[in-house]
Amino acid sequence: LSKRIEVPKGEDELQNLILIINEMLDRLETSFENQTKFVSDASHELRTPLAIIKGYAEIIRKRGTADIDIFVESIDSIISETDNMRNLIQKLLFLAKGEITKINTKFIDIDANEMVHQIHSDTVVSTKTHSFHLEMGENYKIKGDETLLQQAIRALIENAAKYSEPHTNIYIKSAIKDGFGQISIRDEGIGISDEDAKRIFDRFYRVDLSRTKATGGTGLGLAIVKRIVEIHNGRIKINSKMDKGTEISIVLPIGETLEKTEEENIKNV
Ligand code: ADP
Repeated sequence: LSKRIEVPKGEDELQNLILIINEMLDRLETSFENQTKFVSDASHELRTPLAIIKGYAEIIRKRGTADIDIFVESIDSIISETDNMRNLIQKLLFLAKGEITKINTKFIDIDANEMVHQIHSDTVVSTKTHSFHLEMGENYKIKGDETLLQQAIRALIENAAKYSEPHTNIYIKSAIKDGFGQISIRDEGIGISDEDAKRIFDRFYRVDLSRTKATGGTGLGLAIVKRIVEIHNGRIKINSKMDKGTEISIVLPIGETLEKTEEENIKNV
């Protein structure tokens, strides 16, 4: 632990300076603790797929191709665990980068409705398990990195599908609300308690371990969404009811509106 400087009595300026230095030391310490926890959680998460891969490799070494079914099953498991591990490493690298320096971003003017429309079309084609509905309000522009924003929205859609029953509805919505651009994903799934809602954006936090293990969760998806939204000076809103469903919204500063509102159109007539 870093030592705090004792604050001398009487001298105002010196006192203030020391308070500031102590505050800086506190922050450094928190950041260091977070980093240490991140590394230890990350190693822990990487150990599981490694142990599985080693286990199957040992089975193959012991039994060779004597039992072809076991041989094929072992190889398949090794391949799928390697994929899991690669996925995990990609996410870890993204978050680690975000801690140390700014991620390499390319900010452009994005037509929000066009982006959301495209994501909806791609999702309908790729995910047959749910009914995806598109709700589009007045259009607006966002200054942002389109690849990153798409990544964040897709992660929310993936979660909506993961944590709800097949064939239920998922609503993808883009609108202007209170002067901000708001992109929301709403599902009719298992919901999140108020207690958990405070923590699901923390790295490695998973509500129900047995369930997320079954769905291949890493607990990193929402931490990445949060990081992406922060890079865009935005914030995240969550509205959820247990067993009813969840709505997670990304709220972003808008560049300009692209279409006039109905009210303005009427005025212009
Ligand atoms: P994971 O890879 O486990 O899905 P995330 O960071 O994406 O990790 O999400 C963290 C946890 O938040 C999940 O494990 C899940 O418990 C909960 N969660 C996320 N999205 C939803 C949702 N739409 N409905 C219910 N629970 C959710």
